[in-house]
Amino acid sequence: MTVNLLDFDLEGLAAFCEQLGEKRFRATQLFRWIHHKGASDFAQMTDLARSLREKLPAAARITGLPVLSRQDSADGTIKWLFDVGDGNAVETVFIPEDDRGTLCVSSQAGCAVGCRFCSTGHQGFSRNLTTGEILAQLWQAEFFLRQHLNRPGERVITNVVMMGMGEPLQNIHALIPALKVMLDDHAYGLSRRRVTVSTSGVVPMIDRLAQECPVALAVSLHAPNDPLRDDLVPLNRKYPIAELLDACLRYLPAAPRDFITFEYCMLDGVNDTPEHARELLKLLREHGGRGVPCKINLIPFNPFPDSGLRCSPRAVVQRFGQILNEGGIVTTIRKTRGDDIDAACGQLAGDVLDRTDAARRLAQRRAVEQPIRFVTPHPERQA
Ligand code: SAH
Ligand code: SF4
Repeated sequence: MTVNLLDFDLEGLAAFCEQLGEKRFRATQLFRWIHHKGASDFAQMTDLARSLREKLPAAARITGLPVLSRQDSADGTIKWLFDVGDGNAVETVFIPEDDRGTLCVSSQAGCAVGCRFCSTGHQGFSRNLTTGEILAQLWQAEFFLRQHLNRPGERVITNVVMMGMGEPLQNIHALIPALKVMLDDHAYGLSRRRVTVSTSGVVPMIDRLAQECPVALAVSLHAPNDPLRDDLVPLNRKYPIAELLDACLRYLPAAPRDFITFEYCMLDGVNDTPEHARELLKLLREHGGRGVPCKINLIPFNPFPDSGLRCSPRAVVQRFGQILNEGGIVTTIRKTRGDDIDAACGQLAGDVLDRTDAARRLAQRRAVEQPIRFVTPHPERQA
């Protein structure tokens, strides 16, 4: 059985080369072929020491994930559905903007946290992705996009957000080496502030991330008090808000930015009143005495079948944001991208076993939704 070299950070690859009886430094060359040039064939690596090149095919391979589908949104967003075996699939989304290209990467097939407003959470948990499966999403997307967008040799993906399917901090073992490859100059060379881990609040793992690989941190808060958060994000029963905010304060000295981003999904009649906004403001400005340095990102809820929830009206989202901004916390409203291909936050389901049914449901929804969209275009699109 060969090992997949996408599973290694540079340190791991060096140890692997040593096992093959090669000098550790040869790993750097190999690593660059893989992550700078997108090579998957050892024969291509002409400047690699011959001894190593000859040993590699018997011991190793460089393989990505089978692509089950690719969908291109009218706004340039691209979504891939990757097969990870045993009837599971994960989704990866590329979001182009004027000055950057962001890849939204999955960390698990399904998710065990089970947030009420999240399609992945409703699907349940299948398994953790390996480091190689996390990195394959980046590796495949980057080298596909360079060709597709006709930008050879240029970096297309400038930012990575771990905001796809799954709770990255419940898979920290595979996550850390993957983050290291994203940051490594011999690989993708992204700065720490351009790599964001988003978490629903796995407190001990926030500390571990600070120690092992601090990158930008986004925390999915969604509620200003424990009873409401217990209901929306069940993990809150284990790590309540005060403990989570303490972990944020401990994270900040190691963080590449001097603030934490709090994500707040706007749910009609659930967590979106002016009182909720004022409670949130007080919580974040006063926690621990001096408050938590932060920004808030309001995410209009993206509906999915059977969620039983609705998005707050645009005016309610704006009013909520206004209260926070006036109270001194910089608050933005996330623009929805790629919703015509169900690529928006929380819409990622990717369960192959359920595909036929999902495709049917999707077709039904489209049939209902499209005419409405002609009459009242999606408010986010107009922004
Ligand atoms: N598990 C991690 C990262 C993946 S979810 C986390 O929860 O942070 C990425 C973001 O999408 C989170 O902020 C999550 O709360 C949000 N999200 C989930 N479902 C959503 C939905 N239906 N509409 C809008 N945002 C959603
Ligand atoms: Fe899991 Fe994040 Fe979805 Fe919650 S929002 S179920 S933590 S993926």
